[in-house]
Amino acid sequence: VKILAIESSCDETSASVLVDGMVLSNIIANQSVHEQYGGVVPELASRAHQENIVPVVDTALKKAGVDMTELSAIAFTQSPGLIGSLLVGSCFAKSMAMALDIPLIGVHHMQAHVLANFIEDPKPSFPFLCLTVSGGHTQIVQCNGPLDMKVIGETMDDAAGEAFDKSAKLIGLPYPGGPLVDKHAKNGDPKRFKFPEPQIPGLNFSFSGLKTAILYFLQDNKAKDPAFVENNLDDICASVQHRIVTILMNKLVKASEETGIRQISIAGGVSANSGLRAALAEYAAKYDWQYYIPKFEYCTDNAAMIAITAYYKYLAGEFASLDAIPSARAVFGE
Ligand code: ATP
Ligand code: MG
Ligand code: FE
Repeated sequence: VKILAIESSCDETSASVLVDGMVLSNIIANQSVHEQYGGVVPELASRAHQENIVPVVDTALKKAGVDMTELSAIAFTQSPGLIGSLLVGSCFAKSMAMALDIPLIGVHHMQAHVLANFIEDPKPSFPFLCLTVSGGHTQIVQCNGPLDMKVIGETMDDAAGEAFDKSAKLIGLPYPGGPLVDKHAKNGDPKRFKFPEPQIPGLNFSFSGLKTAILYFLQDNKAKDPAFVENNLDDICASVQHRIVTILMNKLVKASEETGIRQISIAGGVSANSGLRAALAEYAAKYDWQYYIPKFEYCTDNAAMIAITAYYKYLAGEFASLDAIPSARAVFGE
């Protein structure tokens, strides 16, 4: 089975070729145009996808050594994401499927983030829990099978990645700030400043209170000492990161206790965070978990995760029709 997958939900244009479950290529074009605006500008993202998609697909096929006439199916990200961005990938995938007269497979982006854990060994066994932490989502997903997932907890407001990026912005770091908070946190004291932990019932999350707490904390301290941030940058970043990570880990512990599942994975862009990775290893030792983290290039947006999800759908005979429409929001795992 040879699958070409296309991911274009946000600001990465990506294509991947998967042959019998093995990733042979995973090409990702990032869009730097958004940096000057401090966030992704949807219209500019769509235009960049249009420019990138042909060369990205071409490179993915060449690198894999697969000719398009050999393909068994074309997969694309159907939801969720920016609608203009999704349209570029879905129109391209449909045209190619029609021209080659092969099946089309629509993939849910958040299911794909979870299944990134199945690209390489070791793979989790079922059932397992996945904490998916990305720029737009924060979810705890119970996975009973590759296509059988249930969201058992999610954020009520900001996503974990947004919490990192918005905190970074308040601190004065450029966009996207998550990786920079991580970098400074490595040299800082995570216990130096205390930020409140929200009291949200069940397995859901909230990060908007933390943002407000950081805003007032910085205002108060800067009023007393204008050089407060520059003199304490590492400790501030370490303390903010520590709070975000403990909010995530405390709910994960709760989810594991409630479900009795001790196979735990993380996925999504924030799973690149070194504090979260270290915490997962530490909690795994403490609670006797087996844990899994996808390779870095499969944590942030990429088409290989779309391809592996499409492979399971192909085996299950779940195909999309040529009039399948992408959607900006779509429920998943209910
Ligand atoms: P979604 O999948 O929800 O649609 P997205 O695909 O845009 O959102 P990802 O690409 O998975 O999100 O992740 C991007 C987020 O990950 C950004 O918020 C970024 O700041 C954050 N991030 C990346 N690396 C790190 C890091 N080392 N520490 C903290 N945050 C990080
Ligand atoms: Mg992105
Ligand atoms: Fe994503």
